[in-house]
Amino acid sequence: TTSKEYPVILGAEALTALAPFLKEHLSNVTKIMIITDSNVGDRYLNQVKHQLGEYEVVTHLVPNGEKAKTFDVFYDCLTAALQEKLDRKSLFIALGGGAIGDLCGFVAASFMRGVPFIQLPTTILAHDSAVGGKVAINHPLGKNMIGAFYQPEAVIYDIDFLQSLPAMERRSGFAEVMKHALINDLHFYQWLLTDIDNLQTITTEQLQECLSKGIKVKESVVSKDEKELGIRAFLNFGHTLGHAIEAEAGYGSITHGEAVVIGMVFALRLSKKLLHLQFEQQEFLEWLHKLGYSTKVPSGLYEEKLIDRMKQDKKTIGQVIQFVLLEEVGKPVLYKIDENVLLEELKQFMK
Ligand code: NAD
Ligand code: ZN
Repeated sequence: TTSKEYPVILGAEALTALAPFLKEHLSNVTKIMIITDSNVGDRYLNQVKHQLGEYEVVTHLVPNGEKAKTFDVFYDCLTAALQEKLDRKSLFIALGGGAIGDLCGFVAASFMRGVPFIQLPTTILAHDSAVGGKVAINHPLGKNMIGAFYQPEAVIYDIDFLQSLPAMERRSGFAEVMKHALINDLHFYQWLLTDIDNLQTITTEQLQECLSKGIKVKESVVSKDEKELGIRAFLNFGHTLGHAIEAEAGYGSITHGEAVVIGMVFALRLSKKLLHLQFEQQEFLEWLHKLGYSTKVPSGLYEEKLIDRMKQDKKTIGQVIQFVLLEEVGKPVLYKIDENVLLEELKQFMK
């Protein structure tokens, strides 16, 4: 494989590992550019800079959220890096959620044919996006269409940064934690179900457990299939319908994870029906409601349109829609589904 190993340092106060890591592993770095947004930068930039007292640090602020992943912002980052005279010995640091990580990683991959970067994730979702080596920006014709496979030198995940995360961002990221449990680890799923009942009051210890287990699942799937030829597709559990809902509802009106939860509920229904999955659907739904998720497709969306979206999905082969279903919790399979069957099932689900 072409992958290189990199450490994921996770925990409360993980940030204090940053400077020692640089000294030990990136000793020729002199200049650092931090890319962040105002939601994160206003809160945590000073702390990060404080750790980097010995370095020449410049900061480049980009728009919050998905607006960071445009060609214009990408170009501005490169312009700033050139103006600040960064060179091949410089380092980029992504301080933020998945949007910042994806943008900054692609900037690092492109600048002077690739310079090192470090991820400092600040969202729950970033346990997913910071691991796996995919970096990208969006094109008007499709999300994440322009990018690279490019690994960070390290992921330093300070859980204290998550305290300020708004409720809907917590729900969005926690959906991917659930996904990782459902596709890989029954015990992890059962632990989530019994231990986590409120995403606002979730403890640092619980978060640490969720993130480290989630990262392990992602790493294990990716390490077996880095370039997405086979089992990496299992990470798409809940995403076939989830992506269609996001696109039809309009990006921004529902978060990614909230849409994926609805997609997972539907995939579990299909799994029970088509693969005889043994699963307590009612218990799952009640838990989701307790955590503040909606488990229904938002009103105003049409079955046929959702199916059209699924056909356009880049994971769809030809015109045949493929779902990730579960034979058991922890045992995913790829399942090509007949369009008429899908339409019928979706109609019932959306009733
Ligand atoms: P994000 O980076 O857009 O962050 C969500 C919002 O929360 C933003 O407004 C941000 O400013 C704010 N925020 C971030 N951290 C905060 C904090 N600690 N306190 C307060 N506010 C904070 O979104 P995300 O959900 O982390 O990531 C979504 C992105 O990740 C998408 O662009 C998606 O395509 C990408 N993604 C990439 C991969 C991958 O493999 N590369 C995988 C999954 C998702
Ligand atoms: Zn996702």
